[in-house]
Amino acid sequence: MSAASAPRPAFDRQGERSDEARVDGAMRSFVREFGVTAALHMESCVRCGMCAEACHFYVATGEAKYTPVYKLEPFRRAYLREAGPFAPLVRGLGLVKKLRIDELQQWQELIYDSCTMCGRCTMVCPMGIDIAELVKEARHGMFKAGLIPDRLALMDRTAQQWGSPATPAEDLPDILADVAKQYGVRIPCDLPQADILVTAAPAELVEHTKALADAAKILNRIGAKWTMHHGGFDASNIGFNNGDMQLQERLTRAIVDTALQIGAKIVLLPECGHAYGAARWEAAKWYGRALPVRIVHMTEFLAELIASQRICVKKIGETATFHDPCQIVRRGGLEAAPRQVLAALGLELIEMKDHGVGAYCCGGGGGVVSNARAVPLRHKVFEIKRQQIEATGAKRFVTSCGQCHITFDMGAKYAHWDKKTESLLEIVADNLAE
Ligand code: SF4
Ligand code: SF4
Repeated sequence: MSAASAPRPAFDRQGERSDEARVDGAMRSFVREFGVTAALHMESCVRCGMCAEACHFYVATGEAKYTPVYKLEPFRRAYLREAGPFAPLVRGLGLVKKLRIDELQQWQELIYDSCTMCGRCTMVCPMGIDIAELVKEARHGMFKAGLIPDRLALMDRTAQQWGSPATPAEDLPDILADVAKQYGVRIPCDLPQADILVTAAPAELVEHTKALADAAKILNRIGAKWTMHHGGFDASNIGFNNGDMQLQERLTRAIVDTALQIGAKIVLLPECGHAYGAARWEAAKWYGRALPVRIVHMTEFLAELIASQRICVKKIGETATFHDPCQIVRRGGLEAAPRQVLAALGLELIEMKDHGVGAYCCGGGGGVVSNARAVPLRHKVFEIKRQQIEATGAKRFVTSCGQCHITFDMGAKYAHWDKKTESLLEIVADNLAE
């Protein structure tokens, strides 16, 4: 077999440190993560296997290694050896073997390529074990060990430098001026004072710029005093997905501190799932108290504007089905808001077999959509969703997360499927009534 045709290893390594230093770095991080909650979760698995059927990666492949609980195995071993109540005995008697570098390397595929941290397994576990959260904590150790997919590592380095994985902060004013001109909307940038700080997802600053124009159209319609700001503009938070806690904190602080600096009472998040996870649910841990600003996802913002009649929308009168983004609906609690917006638009909702908090993931969350190595696996998972969407017979297919949208676009292209994915924000902006 030539070098060119040899299968690529399913792991990447960053930096030049020794294998021993990598294992030690990962172990130190794992042990730090074993607080009371994680320890309880590690102790309480009864090996019932119910989580397997909940995971789209297992369902799509039937491979035992994609069983959710198996994805935690090295984390569990680290717990038993280093932090469990019988750790000295376990170590002394050699009951659980020390983790090896080859095991950590193999594990990379299980927690980065084949876990979107969607939490569907968490929902069905009879013991209440939050596998998605434990995978996220395990990623912290993998990042410390320099053992994450190269694509994600590249985005991490770029975000450290630019404040975004796709756009340097200093380019923001020019980008916004171009989008404003192209769509004929006013997009304020770097105002010294505003009530709402508006943030974006990376793709909205590059190719999906209509989303920025759509948000601007709605904010201008209600007469809001708002701005985008180079100090904190990209809410996607690549640190959240990669396991880079320092970056996660820095990006979160950039947004919240910028909001405080300009006197904003609201940070408006884009149609992005992990932006909501990072800013809405994890931001308080960096501040140690309730956040001094309200973090609002675009979907709940639209639902509130419609409910309070600050905007009115035209009735479309067609059928639609809706993909519930995991971080916004199952992990985020916003199940009703998108349905209220769809109802206001006069779209008759035909639910998929699995929907709401029980919906299957798009297959691209948690950084999987950016991880080139995971493409074949992602395409297999896409098939579950495609079949459920088709089965509804609905004319339109809508979602409210840009990452899910991109995942569906890529899956549809690969499968030669002609169903268009639509953004809830875009439909509202295109159907504003006078
Ligand atoms: S969080 Fe989602 S992707 Fe990860 S193991 Fe659970 S069901 Fe599978
Ligand atoms: S469903 Fe919960 S208890 Fe059952 S195997 Fe999975 S993690 Fe363990």
